[in-house]
This record gives sequence, structure tokens and C-alpha cells, in this order.
Amino acid sequence: MIIVMKVNSTAAEIGAVIARVQEAGAVPHPIYGVERTVVAVVGETRAVDPKTFVQMPGVEKITSISAPFKLASRESHPDDTVIRLNGVQIGGKELVVMAGPCSVESRSQLLETAHAVKEAGAHILRGGAFKPRSSPYSFQGMGLKGLEILAEARETYGLHIITEVMTPQAVPMVAEYADILQIGARNTQNYGLLHAVGRVQRPVMLKRGMMSSMEELLMSAEYILAGGNYRVILCERGIRTFEKYTRNTFDLNAVPLLKQLSHLPVIADPSHGTGRWDIVTAMARAGVAAGADGLMIEVHPNPAEALSDGPQSLKPRRFADLMRQIKRVAEAVDRSLSTVPDVAPEMVP
Ligand code: PEP
Ligand code: MN
Repeated sequence: MIIVMKVNSTAAEIGAVIARVQEAGAVPHPIYGVERTVVAVVGETRAVDPKTFVQMPGVEKITSISAPFKLASRESHPDDTVIRLNGVQIGGKELVVMAGPCSVESRSQLLETAHAVKEAGAHILRGGAFKPRSSPYSFQGMGLKGLEILAEARETYGLHIITEVMTPQAVPMVAEYADILQIGARNTQNYGLLHAVGRVQRPVMLKRGMMSSMEELLMSAEYILAGGNYRVILCERGIRTFEKYTRNTFDLNAVPLLKQLSHLPVIADPSHGTGRWDIVTAMARAGVAAGADGLMIEVHPNPAEALSDGPQSLKPRRFADLMRQIKRVAEAVDRSLSTVPDVAPEMVP
């Protein structure tokens, strides 16, 4: 249920509505929009009688949210959610690019990559310190040391950092270092972890599970929002299909559809979506054209030697080329990418 407040409703009127919802045993989530405030009512709503609210001062009308994902739905929140980090806005007109290696492997590897992606115009540095690997014998990440290296790169290059958190226990530690917490595809429906990141004050990027429908992804986002953390970013990273030429099938449909169903920003990850460096740039262009608010791209100085996801990682020069291309696509769809230097491709060594 949504209680739509009048355009000129006062803080006291909104406060009275919130208190009445709490008295009825449900959970109020006030959403302060550009034009007006609405109060989404979730949780145990059976005892909440819409009639008691219609007469309250400042209330315009009561509507119901048909989607099962109440707080994540566009119905509850018609304006786009824009997530503000120091100097970067995710979900605004300017596209946001998150780039870096799949895993933090060493100080020199990360700093070299950070330098290259910053020069090319990326805003956020990615790199896994805790890696969810299919085999227990594969590289599992550098752990705390990896987080420290990410923090050093942030200071040196003025980039924000995003890194994956795999367990509820690790959330406080990772949140201390990361500007954005990443929930990986293997944990999209790890409800204990979703509860844990719902309680921290850090933006969370939630990747779509390889077997998750769009609705399941949005229901997982709902766990984080219902926990009180409203800064959630959705990420399309491909789903598993019968196709063998690619690691995953990058579901381009999800980009405009998630934007339509939800107010949350949507990031496209064509690196995991394809699993092949040779088509990452094409699918990055497609993601931007489809309306993504930004991209996540894996970049490695020497992909052949990468400890994870080398086959889908771009060399820095190809990444710079991708950035110049998506800048032009962004402009064609009324977005911008102002951090990309205007250099003719032939001038780039
Ligand atoms: C990653 O970003 O390196 C990663 C493990 O992604 P996903 O969870 O989408 O597989
Ligand atoms: Mn990866």
C-alpha cells in the first residue's frame, strides 16, 4: 500500500502518517520525491486499514502496489534513484564506469590497472579481494591485503572502489574499505547476506544470479531496501542458457525492463555477460544504447597471466578504445561521459 501525500503536505503531517502506520504494526518507508512524498507501507499490513489514512491531514490518496517488490518498484517511486558518492552520481545523466581486474592479484597489478582505467575515464575501480570460485583449488583472492591495496589505489588515483563481499560476517570489514559493496551472482539469493548489507550505510551493487529471473533479482533488492538501505544498484551480468560460444547469455532485455519496473540504477556487465574479450566492446555499446546507467568492465594489464577471468579481460588500450566508443553512444541516447578524454584513436599509442 502507498499513502500519497499532497504536494504541499507538511513534515508534521507526514510524521503523523508514519506514526499511525507504526501503531498498526506495519513498517513505513517514506520516499521523498522531487514533487511529493509517498509513504510505502510494507511488512504486516493486514491490520492497516486504508480508510483511517484517507481522512488524515495532508493525505491525497491511497494506492496499492501491484508488484511483489514494493520498495524496488517504479510504482512506489516514480523518480529515478540517483546514488551520490563523493563527486560521482550513479543513475543520473552521466554514465558511470566501473573498471578493473577481476581479482586483486598484487599491488603492482592493481595500481597499474587503476592508473590506466582512470586515464581512460573510469569513475570506480573494481577488483575482488574475496573471490567466489567454482573450484576450491583456484585462487580465492588476497583477502584483507587486497582490500588494503584497493584503498591505496583509491587514495593515489582518486577513484572510488567496489569489491565483493561473500559472507554476512565479512560485511563490516569490507564496508570499512569499499565505497560500494558488490553482491555476486552466486549470492543473489543468499538472504542472510542480503539482510546484512541491508543494515549498513554503504551502497550495494546486486548482481543478477545466473539462474535468477528479473523478478527474483528485484525481490532480492527488496530485502536490502526493506532492511533500510535504499542505495541499491542492479547489475545485469548474463544468465545461463544452452549457448556454448559464450560463458553466459548477456540479457540485454533486462536493461530497459529493469529500468521500467524499478527506479534503481542499472549497470551492464558485458565482461561476465559474454566471457569473451573480443565481444565485450560490442555488448558494452549495446548496454549503453539500451539505457544502462553505466558499465562494469574487467581490465587486466596482462590477461594471459590473470589469476581469474583472463579470457574476458580487456587490455588497458582496448579499454580506452571502448570508453571512446561508448561516449559517442551515450551522446546518441542523451547521456554523457564527460571523463573520457577527446583524443583521436590514431593518436593513442
Ligand atoms: C566478478 O565481478 O568478478 C564476479 C565474480 O561476477 P559475478 O558474480 O557476476 O560472476
Ligand atoms: Mn570476474
